[in-house]
Amino acid sequence: MNAMTDRLRALPSVDSLLREPIAADLLTAYGREATVNALRVTLDQWRDRLRAGEVLASGADAILNHATDSLRADFTPTLRPVINATGVIIHTNLGRAPLSQAAQRAIVEAGGQYSTLEFDLETGKRGSRLIHAERLLQQLTGAEAALVVNNNAAALVLLLSALALGREVVISRGQLVEIGGGFRVPEVMEQSGAKLVEVGTTNRTRLSDFERAITPQTALFMRAHASNFKQIGFVEQPDLADLARLAHDHNLAVVDDLGSGALLDTAPYGLEHEPTVQESLAAGVDLIAVSGDKLLGGPQSGLLLGKQALIDRLKRHPLARAVRADKLCLAALTATLEHYRRGEALTHIPIWQMIARPLESIRAQAESWQAQVGGAVIDGVSAVGGGSLPGETLPTALLALDLPAPDSVLARLRANHLPVIARIADDRLLFDPRTVLPGQEAELLRAIQAVIA
Ligand SMILES: *Cc1c(COP(=O)(O)O)cnc(C)c1O
Repeated sequence: MNAMTDRLRALPSVDSLLREPIAADLLTAYGREATVNALRVTLDQWRDRLRAGEVLASGADAILNHATDSLRADFTPTLRPVINATGVIIHTNLGRAPLSQAAQRAIVEAGGQYSTLEFDLETGKRGSRLIHAERLLQQLTGAEAALVVNNNAAALVLLLSALALGREVVISRGQLVEIGGGFRVPEVMEQSGAKLVEVGTTNRTRLSDFERAITPQTALFMRAHASNFKQIGFVEQPDLADLARLAHDHNLAVVDDLGSGALLDTAPYGLEHEPTVQESLAAGVDLIAVSGDKLLGGPQSGLLLGKQALIDRLKRHPLARAVRADKLCLAALTATLEHYRRGEALTHIPIWQMIARPLESIRAQAESWQAQVGGAVIDGVSAVGGGSLPGETLPTALLALDLPAPDSVLARLRANHLPVIARIADDRLLFDPRTVLPGQEAELLRAIQAVIA
């Protein structure tokens, strides 16, 4: 009993801890309030533990070390960079598309300075933020007009609210999909005040199904790209050009929720063909909605492309203000689109570099990792991800490590100061060079070496 009271009395005070040299570093790094608070909380914990009879080091060093750890943990941001060694290129949980160098610079420039966001340099008067990406999108896709909003979900809500409020939107039953994260096409349609008219069956919908569904209340035909699943076997959907013709014969518009928004063909890389924006426009679609951070490889955004008269109605709708894109997004998007205009998307946009990367180059990198950390190089597959090209994979070479308790190794890799996200198959840890960004390779190998040691 006495020994415990002695230990409690011997605990340093907050003031004496603050006079220790390490405390100066803590004050600089975390500020006075947080530092003092962490020391108090640590001292409280020490008192409780001593009273509970625990025998523990109670000097200034032990307490400062504990307070340092808890401050560091507390101040670590929850949104932080990670190394993606999963081989999933557009990994929605890991932030989808990493931006090109030019797009990153554009964000820094637009964010750190005043800009021409809504200012016309010629007249010296108010300008429009809508012009920045619009001209480029028109040039690249041939669309009459374009509008950039916060994301594709917002694009859909805006277009349905503006064009189909209280009216009917005809869509195939096979396309009433859930995109992920609980985002369901039918629910978005209902929320927007449009009345959903489902036609066809789960696996087959014909043009005549759309034709029979037309009433005086019909506003739109809608197609939604079944981005994250694939129907095979006895399936049928009407040709988009035929659907557009039927709609136009009845003075209706066709909207296409294309999802991934490819501007380039994926087929040359051994992938199935992903429908492109240009193809939908060529088929006669009136309005397309796509994500900017899927196969476009840009920042989170929703792009609406199509007929001028329809885009004008969307721009005038009150919701347009609520879902508008911010300046950082517009800066990064414009820089990303410039890569397409210059014909350098494959060499400058990270997700396209990853898609187009030759297998031999990936194998060589996996072999160099193996030379440094051991393990084996095995054949495997990378995925495009992000709800594009479901089930489609790219052949890759993986570093495979056979370590005891692979799940706990995976957890330790996630605890690295630059967390490493990898996967396990057949009890082996797998690392895919395809999605590891060049600047992160050294840290990946350091982290692997640390968990092996
Ligand atoms: C991804 C996707 C969406 C949602 O896009 P966000 O940009 O994530 O809001 C909508 N429709 C389809 C078909 C998609 O693939």
